[in-house]
Amino acid sequence: MNLNVVKHATCTFCGCVCDDIELHADQVRIVEAKRACVLGKAWFLNHTAESLYPPALIDGQPAPVDDAIALAAELLDQAAMPLVYGMSNITCEAQRETVALAERLGGVVDSHTSL
Ligand code: SF4
Repeated sequence: MNLNVVKHATCTFCGCVCDDIELHADQVRIVEAKRACVLGKAWFLNHTAESLYPPALIDGQPAPVDDAIALAAELLDQAAMPLVYGMSNITCEAQRETVALAERLGGVVDSHTSL
């Protein structure tokens, strides 16, 4: 089996952003994450390119993405104090967008580290 090797990959799991990870992957999943810690290995090795879920859900049922976005916007707009939470597994650019969203909504931001 031929594996794709990606050197100097960045792990975004915990926030340390280790950028010296070497990933070995087949066509579907990462099979090795050299130099990643135990958390990073678990994160890399347990994600696949398979589509395990539909693109969007409403009340637990598959729904068109546009409908899900419209409902999410409506719910966020109605919220008294929306909480934008998480952000541990996303890029700096995505974190910037979540902070902008919280500011636009008049909400608050928290990360998983508060656990
Ligand atoms: S989870 Fe481990 S490998 Fe990933 S950024 Fe944090 S310390 Fe680095």
